[in-house]
Amino acid sequence: MIIYLDNNATTRMAPEVLAAMLPFLQESYGNAGSAHVLGLLSEGALVQSREQVAAMLGCSPAEVLFNSGGTEGINHTFRGVFEAFPNQRHFIISAVEHPAVLAVCEWLKSQGAEVTSLGVDRDGQLDLAALAASIRPDTALVSLMAANNESGVLFPLDKVVQLVKGKGALLHVDATQSIGKAPLDLATLPIDLLNVSGHKFHGPKGTGALFIRRGLRLKPFMLGGHQERGRRGGTENVPGIVGLGKASEMVLAHLPQVAAMGGLRDHFESAIRDSIKGVHLHGAGAPRLPNTSFMGFQGLEGEALLMKLSERGVCVSTGSACTTGQKEPSHVLRAMSAPKEFALGTIRISLCRYTTRDEIQTVLEMLPGIVEDLRGSNPFTRA
Ligand code: PLP
Repeated sequence: MIIYLDNNATTRMAPEVLAAMLPFLQESYGNAGSAHVLGLLSEGALVQSREQVAAMLGCSPAEVLFNSGGTEGINHTFRGVFEAFPNQRHFIISAVEHPAVLAVCEWLKSQGAEVTSLGVDRDGQLDLAALAASIRPDTALVSLMAANNESGVLFPLDKVVQLVKGKGALLHVDATQSIGKAPLDLATLPIDLLNVSGHKFHGPKGTGALFIRRGLRLKPFMLGGHQERGRRGGTENVPGIVGLGKASEMVLAHLPQVAAMGGLRDHFESAIRDSIKGVHLHGAGAPRLPNTSFMGFQGLEGEALLMKLSERGVCVSTGSACTTGQKEPSHVLRAMSAPKEFALGTIRISLCRYTTRDEIQTVLEMLPGIVEDLRGSNPFTRA
């Protein structure tokens, strides 16, 4: 039996999403650019999906560009803005952004751009005063995530928007993790660019969308065809886009269930605190996604905990990365100044709307014993 608690990494596809995609993988396989009947069916499906994604985001369908996911949306944003505004060479991000943002910023620096990386406090929260102070007349773009993929901490988007738009810079939001878990309405938030990824909200992998506010002109990201109004050439992934559209429609329908997911996560955390000593909940002092628990177990290795859980069919992830052959806390934990004895023993548990109370109960029953065994076998933590 598998208990899947790694939903910030990826989610299972909803059965309704698969059902919506199947006709476009089988009998209705026309190229959306073809003028015949099968082409028109595909073209119609793209129109419908664009409307579904736009309804989820609160924008107009013309502002939605289909792509392959979060990493592409981030690359498109940074490279597009860099090219479109040659006199604005300053970019602002936070230290806890996704590696895609960090990597593109390294490339930007190699091209002569200047990048300011804002720190976060121990709870993973952004320093708004530092953000305000860092925006300059030559700032092209401020790029911040809606929610962090490791800690689940939510950045205060309403306040960020006020600060950034008040100073005239463009604002990009990486909403990859918040979609389906926190409300978002672009009709009331004047964000300029925002990326989403289908596989994080029960849609297919390799699908996503970039919102580009009307009037903002970026050069094409992929040259070669008229698709996506010339901004991303290449035959459209019609089945994938249909799945993305269906998944977006389901996000809207399921938002009321998010509170219940938060209740289950809170129950899990308080039960763990009651049954295991030496546990630190990273980011728990800040507003967080309702599905994420980022827990540090004192004196343990997150990897060992992950393997023990995996042997019993429970899928989670760790808060560490292996960079130089040695385990290091992730860049997010380092930015949060997490104490090392908790940081290295960190695992991330991320729920979804399909997670059941019984699954959580099963994990609650097995985790204290696993932690005790591992602590007992560690010469540094053995009592
Ligand atoms: N941004 C965040 C916050 C993410 O969590 C991820 C995926 O883990 C990405 C971007 C990249 O998304 P994709 O897997 O669709 O390329």
